[in-house]
Amino acid sequence: MNAVVSEIVEKDRRLSPLQVPPTVIEMLDASERASLVARIQRLLVEQDATLVAHYYTSPELQELAEATGGYVSDSLDMARFGTECKSRTLVVAGVRFMGETAKILNPEKRVLMPDLHAECSLDLGCPADEFAAFCDQHPDRTVVVYANTSAAVKARSDWVVTSGIALELVRHLAERGEKLIWAPDRHLGAYVQRETGVDMLLWSAACVVHEAFKADALKRLRAEHPDAKVLVHPESPLDVIAQADVVGSTTGLVEAVRKLPAKKFIVATDNGLFHKMQQVAPDKVFLEAPIAGKGATCVSCAHCPWMAMNGLRNLAQVLETGANEILIDETVRERAVQPIRRLLEFAKQRKRVVLGNNDA
Ligand code: SF4
Repeated sequence: MNAVVSEIVEKDRRLSPLQVPPTVIEMLDASERASLVARIQRLLVEQDATLVAHYYTSPELQELAEATGGYVSDSLDMARFGTECKSRTLVVAGVRFMGETAKILNPEKRVLMPDLHAECSLDLGCPADEFAAFCDQHPDRTVVVYANTSAAVKARSDWVVTSGIALELVRHLAERGEKLIWAPDRHLGAYVQRETGVDMLLWSAACVVHEAFKADALKRLRAEHPDAKVLVHPESPLDVIAQADVVGSTTGLVEAVRKLPAKKFIVATDNGLFHKMQQVAPDKVFLEAPIAGKGATCVSCAHCPWMAMNGLRNLAQVLETGANEILIDETVRERAVQPIRRLLEFAKQRKRVVLGNNDA
């Protein structure tokens, strides 16, 4: 591409620290934990339910999902697993858009979540009505949205995209002469634009966890650990991405840990992922990329406050009561499933396994 156009045209959609809840980790003593685990195991069987957890949830939830025939992964792969699993109910431990995506792809199943207040700053930063109005102002542009969006925003899009296939898809659309709207993550959008040179208008939301990583402090940490490889999720700022040995989705970063011969890694993503990294490479050392440094706010302290809302107590409760069911208007769902299917078809044509190589 010759013409390089990338413009953040919308007002700043980043949440202020006041809009972000504190990260509260569930504290349980050993006997309460054991009793809750036993109760949840019994309820999963009684309710014909399967637990699907995101990489950023607590080690307890991840271990329970795997021990009970459930699954731990990234958002679309969680939803993909749901389509294969025979259970009548899926319990999604993650954030709301993940429960919605599971429901979009599995309308016949009951989808429950431990806490419906578990949001995402990218989703919150992209209200469907305002986004639709913005798209309407640019009818000549193809609308590409990241998986971290509501069902209503997906319904307004032409393509849903994951970080595992974003560069390839955006290049493909540009080859067809299409100009793009990209939403909602300004950092991932800027990264994709820089790599592809494609004409993109960027919505300007951000992830409160990844945006907090600091380039200057990372530089110092690298100098202290010259043997460490730097792994960065592309929702991070460009000056952090610029220092990466590997830029990748959650699944991509876990794969890097598994495959690279290095023994030490500095990791710029939610520290919930360290549990899976430690599982796949128990002999390796993982250091958190710094959030201290110039302009540091430590809003999330490298752990998503909304992911932390998932716990054993509320999981047991929803299984008992059937509360917190995800319901989506069928017209919205039918529209939202189209751009997801388009992505899957694109990936299939390219002989790419997009599911399992995805996003936040
Ligand atoms: S870590 Fe960031 S992108 Fe992931 S759910 Fe939390 S706020 Fe959203």
